[in-house]
Amino acid sequence: MHLTKIEIYNGIGFADENQVFKALEEVYNEIPSLKCGRCGQCCADNPRISLLEYINIYKYVRDSLKFHWAEIVDKCITNYFLDLVEPSLNCPFLGEDNQCMIYQIRPFNCRVFGHKSKEEFEMDFTKGIFEQVKNYWRQHGIIIPDEVMKFKPYYCEEVQPLQGKKLGLKNITSIMNKLIAVERRMFSLEIIMDNDNYIPFYKHFTDTVIGLRANKKKPDVMKEYLENKQSDLLKEFLEKGKKFEF
Ligand code: SF4
Ligand code: SF4
Repeated sequence: MHLTKIEIYNGIGFADENQVFKALEEVYNEIPSLKCGRCGQCCADNPRISLLEYINIYKYVRDSLKFHWAEIVDKCITNYFLDLVEPSLNCPFLGEDNQCMIYQIRPFNCRVFGHKSKEEFEMDFTKGIFEQVKNYWRQHGIIIPDEVMKFKPYYCEEVQPLQGKKLGLKNITSIMNKLIAVERRMFSLEIIMDNDNYIPFYKHFTDTVIGLRANKKKPDVMKEYLENKQSDLLKEFLEKGKKFEF
């Protein structure tokens, strides 16, 4: 589902008026805090987020990160087009100091990252990336580079709960169901459960900035980049992004 800027503003208004953001925060607060070196290494991967989390983060960036707008727009558009061909890209919210720019409102998947066992973590990742790779192979004949195929997100052994044990998948799922219940105040279950709506911030956001043309042109940008290590088409989209205001 592609949200326009007007729809996002309407969503923010509705969520503010009806305490939806507050309810989202209450669900987040159920996830026990973790002790972590905050080195940023795990932020090479991009967490998938729901539409409600997208609106929540959009609002935060609009209101609190004005000086970072240009950088965030640039990184999101670059990630959108090159995520399957350039393994060096990180989450757009990872700052130069390796800290998260949106730490206070970081999404569910970032909060539960350290609560999964290694097996649970790897199972989640494998499902997402290989589906995308297979789709591109089938539809566009694009050969995904080996570094991307072999990329494994970093599982951190260091992160531990401040108190008690890790949540594990069963408890994570039960808190996730509470998140879905909050989302249902704004979206139908069908929309929430649609995998196309459960995607990283950079995908939601590039759909908002560029619209449906982004998805149509992605294979061309990828091919151009794989051949020349740069893409003129991508430069055009980045220019368009420069005009965007949150
Ligand atoms: S969870 Fe681990 S890898 Fe991620 S920031 Fe914390 S210490 Fe670094
Ligand atoms: S949102 Fe923050 S914590 Fe989550 S991956 Fe991005 S930089 Fe890391």
